[in-house]
Amino acid sequence: MFCPECKSLMFPDEGYFVCRKCDYKKKIEDYKASTIQEAADERETLVIEGDLDTLPKTKIECSKCKHNEAYWIIRQTRAADEPETRIYRCTKCGHTWREF
Ligand SMILES: [Zn+2]
Ligand SMILES: [Zn+2]
Repeated sequence: MFCPECKSLMFPDEGYFVCRKCDYKKKIEDYKASTIQEAADERETLVIEGDLDTLPKTKIECSKCKHNEAYWIIRQTRAADEPETRIYRCTKCGHTWREF
């Protein structure tokens, strides 16, 4: 979901897709839940691939290659009653996974 005004990625926020750059808003009702999830996933991928050097690292085992270090971010939740989700990305093989 991209902002029609400035082409920035928009984020779901309290019933709206919101552009953080120019404050453009669009009601989420117009979209199906799967579209919202897609936007959230897209955002995770962007966040985690865009700023690898600035991301914190932690000691955790990658389930894919058994490497013991991964970048991680906390995904901001869409609803207040949802728990935080941590997203890890293996520093070696790039495998990405979530922890709830
Ligand atoms: Zn915008
Ligand atoms: Zn790995």
